[in-house]
Amino acid sequence: MKKLICMMMTIGLLSACSGKTEKGAADDFTYSVDRFADLEVLRYRVPAFESLAPRQKELVYYLTEAALQGRDILFDQNGKWNLAIRRTLEAVYTQYEGDRSGADFRELEKYLKQVWFANGIHHHYSTDKFTPGFSREFFEAAVRSVPAESLPLRTDGDVERLLADICPVIFNPDTLAKRVNQEAGADLIATSAGNFYDGVTQAEAEAFYAAQKTPGDTTPVSYGLNSRLVKRNGRLQEEVCRVGGRYGEAIEKIVYWLDKAAGVAESDRQRRVIETLADYYRTGDLKTFDDYSILWVGDTSRIDFVNGFIEVYGDPIGLKGSWESLVNFKDLEASHRTEIISANAQWFEQHSPTDTAYKKEEVKGVSAKVITAALLAGDCYPATPIGINLPNADWIRHLHGSKSVTIENITSAYDKAAQGNGFNEEFVWSDTERELIRRYGFLTDNLHTDLHECLGHGSGKLLPTTDPDALRSYGSTLEETRADLFALYFLADEKLIELGLLPDAEAYKAEYYRYMMNGLMTQLVRIEPGKDLEESHMRNRQLIARRVLEKGAADRTVEIRRRDGKSFVVINDYGRLRTLIGELLAEVQRIKSTGDYEAGKNLVESYGVKVDSALHAEVLRRYEGLDIKPYKGFVNPVYTPVFDSEGRIADVAVSYGEGYAEQMLRYARDYSPLPTYND
Ligand code: ZN
Repeated sequence: MKKLICMMMTIGLLSACSGKTEKGAADDFTYSVDRFADLEVLRYRVPAFESLAPRQKELVYYLTEAALQGRDILFDQNGKWNLAIRRTLEAVYTQYEGDRSGADFRELEKYLKQVWFANGIHHHYSTDKFTPGFSREFFEAAVRSVPAESLPLRTDGDVERLLADICPVIFNPDTLAKRVNQEAGADLIATSAGNFYDGVTQAEAEAFYAAQKTPGDTTPVSYGLNSRLVKRNGRLQEEVCRVGGRYGEAIEKIVYWLDKAAGVAESDRQRRVIETLADYYRTGDLKTFDDYSILWVGDTSRIDFVNGFIEVYGDPIGLKGSWESLVNFKDLEASHRTEIISANAQWFEQHSPTDTAYKKEEVKGVSAKVITAALLAGDCYPATPIGINLPNADWIRHLHGSKSVTIENITSAYDKAAQGNGFNEEFVWSDTERELIRRYGFLTDNLHTDLHECLGHGSGKLLPTTDPDALRSYGSTLEETRADLFALYFLADEKLIELGLLPDAEAYKAEYYRYMMNGLMTQLVRIEPGKDLEESHMRNRQLIARRVLEKGAADRTVEIRRRDGKSFVVINDYGRLRTLIGELLAEVQRIKSTGDYEAGKNLVESYGVKVDSALHAEVLRRYEGLDIKPYKGFVNPVYTPVFDSEGRIADVAVSYGEGYAEQMLRYARDYSPLPTYND
């Protein structure tokens, strides 16, 4: 299975760009909403929402309601105590009448904000458990002091029972320490705190799903995607997420709003897309989910959305989908860029440096567009991808194509929020590179995402005898590596100038420099001292950067140079760097196409995992001086329907004023249908 949400790191690299995407004059919109721990919360705008037709706005509104109703699902998937802990913290946060300006309460507030951000008690990116900065004594006294009816008590339980349940989970560092453990050798399910399995070993889960596969089935469903696998009385059984099943209370509400949305769909096809999705939610039938995905890929309506159990990063063995939703509409002007790329997909496939045996004879249905996010939810909120390529099922991608999007109002918000933060002054080698980034950075960064999403993931093919899961736990890192290499290789191709996508032969250098600096050095700001790289995209970036650094060492293609006690990436030969990228692309495509597990493992373990500790310490020290938060996320706009005299929705207003805690508490109040305990 592929895992295709990408999170390009835009941690301040675009700080000084030329503003070529700016629409309108001076921008007095406040992007930064809140800052705490290692996180910053931003706002994003939804340009052109007002220009949608009233019926389109009504459709967006229903889809946003369907999106918000699923929020609790992800909390529970991320850990079985998450809802109990979040609701307890919210009760203390809103009801506590003791010293609210004391250190303990302020630490509790910070912790709650982290839990909201991560949809649970583990960091959204590292998946390590948060360390509370308040004492257990304070917490227990605070919980006892608030009205019992505000607490999530079990029907047969009391406050002491609640404290006995959740305090060890919050305060004992060894209890459920990691949400997704990827460390080779361990039982990845037993050592991961996620709630996709209960009482099941990794070997049992793998055998359970292997037994469901029919040899020679060319259109397999995504086994296990929408369920929890549990062992009860010695027997393995699946709890399927559907109306009347697991998470039924939330799914019922999602279906209610989907039914409304179907009534105002933009086309007959889109109505069938929505109805088929609702049908899947009613039955939990994964075959219906595939039918839905096929319909969805072919739907070209302006308003679009994702709503379901989609990406499998949260499951250490990559089967279970985390719930997410993204409601969006096409940015007609910016989509012109991706339409050009899509129209030339076959040319790129033919000219890729991979072996002919691994190329697709015919690249089908690479549909690409630039979209405007209207609402983020579940696994897309508050931290969000900036590009998506779906569906994930290999055979659907092969036979029906995939839909690839770049979310430009989000990248634009990142960019605006990062202006003038000092990052490039600290880490970029000289004014030459800074000038490249200033002139071309925003453009080439977006183009990299477009190429990665609409060509990279869709390129190449497996040999008929290759098991799609052959690369196992290295599969997602290598898939991201492949897509990034494809994008990097063609960014430097004259074809992009010919197509009018890049202005000149200098532009790609901005992205090459940015990518190498990030992969070799600056992405380490997200890693705690002493830790390895674990997240697929971070591993992939370091893999590429380290490997080409090593391959080009003899003729100093790229080097890390020291100046005033600081390290800098210097690129001496951009042309040779492109050649090395092409060679690595050919090798990674071979690994993927043939399912060469050993070679894949070797690449990832040799270049993508271990961190240079001295360089890491230096980067952290320099970054700290800048006071930039390494992770960012977003609050959503607020959509308010305007009713006519007969009670029908005549219009939908959008506003941006809501704060972070304010939004989280509103969601907890209005969109929290699940019971606290879902064992
Ligand atoms: Zn990707």
